[in-house]
Amino acid sequence: MQTYSVVPREYKTVNEAEAISRIKEHKRNLGKQMVILTHHYQRKELVPLGDYTGDSYYLSKVAANEKEAQHIIFCGVHFMAESARILCRPEQIVYLPNPLAGCPMADMAEIDDVLSSWKELKSVLSDSKVIPISYMNSAASLKAFCGDNDGVVCTSSNAHKAFEWGFKRGQKIFFFPDEHLGKNSCNRLKIPADEIIIWDPKKENGGNELEKIRNAKVILWKGYCHVHINFTPEHVKKIREQYPGALVVVHPECSEETVALADASGSTNFIVNYVTEAPSGSVIAIGTEINLISRLADMFPDKKILELTGQTCPMCVNMFRTTLGDLLYTLDNLGKVNIIEVDPEVKQGALLALERMLELN
Ligand code: SF4
Repeated sequence: MQTYSVVPREYKTVNEAEAISRIKEHKRNLGKQMVILTHHYQRKELVPLGDYTGDSYYLSKVAANEKEAQHIIFCGVHFMAESARILCRPEQIVYLPNPLAGCPMADMAEIDDVLSSWKELKSVLSDSKVIPISYMNSAASLKAFCGDNDGVVCTSSNAHKAFEWGFKRGQKIFFFPDEHLGKNSCNRLKIPADEIIIWDPKKENGGNELEKIRNAKVILWKGYCHVHINFTPEHVKKIREQYPGALVVVHPECSEETVALADASGSTNFIVNYVTEAPSGSVIAIGTEINLISRLADMFPDKKILELTGQTCPMCVNMFRTTLGDLLYTLDNLGKVNIIEVDPEVKQGALLALERMLELN
């Protein structure tokens, strides 16, 4: 739920230097009354304007702990601003500068489909306790569903911990919406492949035989990130041929086959730390969104930073939607446009699931 209006033409055509200067002026005038959060995948020119830059987990913690700012501007995608809205104080206002910036993966688990799948699953597993766990990349309604059903939310950095948490409370886990993060978390916990099933909400019983559902320990919702599934094992092999000794680091939204061949896998914050700590002269191929990779290449000219596919330019178009003009328009109209709201009925359950997530670490 949000209020937004069409960005007037002058903000679409404003030149970069002028936009940056006016945004900085707003920052000076508002001081601690405003905080700007920028996700790692945002455009290069936006990131330096943020007071905090990080992944969705880090930025949600910043929003939860922010005491002074009345205005929290989230340069990211919708589920991130929604999570900030849920975690911050009621009198604070959260903004998403481009309200069209969504996450296709989050949209793959719509609450109505989840509810009917849950009903179907429970009818097969009437004697087992199933713990629902949702990735941060999900709508508030799905987070609330998890909160209301003894479940939790997790991020790419703590999904395995969420699974361990879940197994202390139930026999089975139903994980949404990214099957790859789910599979990689299972692999990390050494859960056998025959105890994992994929649930396709378009098919009866998720496309599974009843016996398989009864034997499964983990049920993974069929969903994926169109950016991270671009990276394949062939890309890893090719980069190693071209650059013997190159380090390969990928995001856990990549397929398990790609993760298995990489030197390391982790959240965007993990990738930033991995590159930061690599010795000067390292060649590092990265499997994640291109804006972060290009920024890392600029930050570390003493290291050779490569995009893992070498050709497809894996960009999250939704992250790329937010422009300097959108940010400027939002700051020029604080309190009036691009405000993110969450239904109070949904908020309570979602808050519970998010607070459990923050306790996981
Ligand atoms: S990179 Fe993938 S998961 Fe992240 S916001 Fe974009 S589509 Fe969603």
